Amino acid sequence: MPAFAQPSLRAVRPDPGRAHALLSGRGARATRARIDVLAVLLATGDALSHHDVERCLPRGHGIDRVTLYRVLDWLTAQGLAHKVAGDDRVWRYSAAGHAAGAHAHFQCRDCGRVVCLDGARVPAIPLPAGFRRNEVEVTVKGTCAACRA
Ligand SMILES: [Zn+2]
Ligand SMILES: [Zn+2]
Repeated sequence: MPAFAQPSLRAVRPDPGRAHALLSGRGARATRARIDVLAVLLATGDALSHHDVERCLPRGHGIDRVTLYRVLDWLTAQGLAHKVAGDDRVWRYSAAGHAAGAHAHFQCRDCGRVVCLDGARVPAIPLPAGFRRNEVEVTVKGTCAACRA
């Protein structure tokens, strides 16, 4: 997929101040990498792949791929982000919507963009006796507004 196949990513304007405040508010160590990565996630309602995040980081950020993976997993473990696997089995991370709990996602069939649908709670689906759920994923597939324009 070419860089910025998702039209929505061109408009991402990270706000490091907000990210720093969120990290400090939790008593977490606000490293430059954590601030920069969280700022990218906060700047969009989309769920972003590693590659997407890389593209949106500020110039000269100095965050290598291993650090980026670590920071994204750390943010997820801290509850500052959640991850969702799209149709393409690529993990994407989002700082939106997760506060509301389990929610549905939308994936665009044209550009691959995954959006958190904050207002769409995942219903409690009853399971047969003895079954145990690990996770529930509800994804609406279609065409996003940018691709339809
Ligand atoms: Zn699209
Ligand atoms: Zn989400």
